[in-house]
Amino acid sequence: MTRPPLKILCITGWCRNGSTIIGNILNELPGFFHVGELHFLWKNAAGWGANNLCGCGRPLIECPIWSRILPLGRPAGLSAESFAETVVARQRAYVRTRHTWRVLRRGLYCAGTREHADLMTPVYHAIAELTGARVLVDTTKIPGESALLPHLAGIEPYYVHLVRDPRAVAGSWHQPKDYAYAMSSSKSTAYWYGFNLAAGAITRRHPQRSMTVRYEDFIADPAAIVASMLRLCGAESAVVPLRDRVIELGVNHTVTGNPDRLRNGATVIRDTDDSWKANLPRPAKLAAAALSWPLFWRYGYRYVTGRRLGGPGA
Ligand SMILES: [Zn+2]
Repeated sequence: MTRPPLKILCITGWCRNGSTIIGNILNELPGFFHVGELHFLWKNAAGWGANNLCGCGRPLIECPIWSRILPLGRPAGLSAESFAETVVARQRAYVRTRHTWRVLRRGLYCAGTREHADLMTPVYHAIAELTGARVLVDTTKIPGESALLPHLAGIEPYYVHLVRDPRAVAGSWHQPKDYAYAMSSSKSTAYWYGFNLAAGAITRRHPQRSMTVRYEDFIADPAAIVASMLRLCGAESAVVPLRDRVIELGVNHTVTGNPDRLRNGATVIRDTDDSWKANLPRPAKLAAAALSWPLFWRYGYRYVTGRRLGGPGA
């Protein structure tokens, strides 16, 4: 009997867009497993990344899931550290944001992309095998990795391009988080622009398997937006585990993401998230709005001073 393809719900866009909480909501559904930002598994497990803890609170190398995934593809005799160096070097050389268009046009266009695919294919299948998941939610967000997914054997990717007002994103980067450094508004917005441009190229390439969602629409009606993601990947019969904006989050095994991933229990999805309006200096707001043009406008954000004139970012 042939196995059905493994579905991957890939959440793209630039960081601080709410992907961790959406991934963790989906993680509560039977048959779903949120891997977090899988791209960083090798780097973080080696201790070079922003955080070496799994969402379950254990170091990645001690987690019951990742301790079994990390040895996959490692040649006999090669140390875990040397293998991590190889994987990270390959990621940097072949699947960064700037490589997205090349992967979209030419697929596995060189030996390096083929080698990376030869690692990621068994990794995804082994995670599904270990966890019993039929849908893996990957919130890596690196567009080069996302573009590669259709070229992995037995994988069926679905894309959620998650955008958030660049001023709110800049506001989030304005303050350092538990294990993330601060970033200026112009730098955050330059990344925002590049990642969203590349994510848009992917969803245009796969329109039947893609949707674009604004974070602001998610927090306005989280249950409806999560339900639309379930329809996208053919899991519309699943019940969204949200009740009056509250979700009971169990333990997750996410590789990096928002520091909140380490907490569980009853979690409220707030209906507003606009502290940036008061906390982000006006020149930083202007920089974010100007540098994100024209995508800022295309996603429905508006720059309005003084009174509020509609639009989620007004
Ligand atoms: Zn874990």
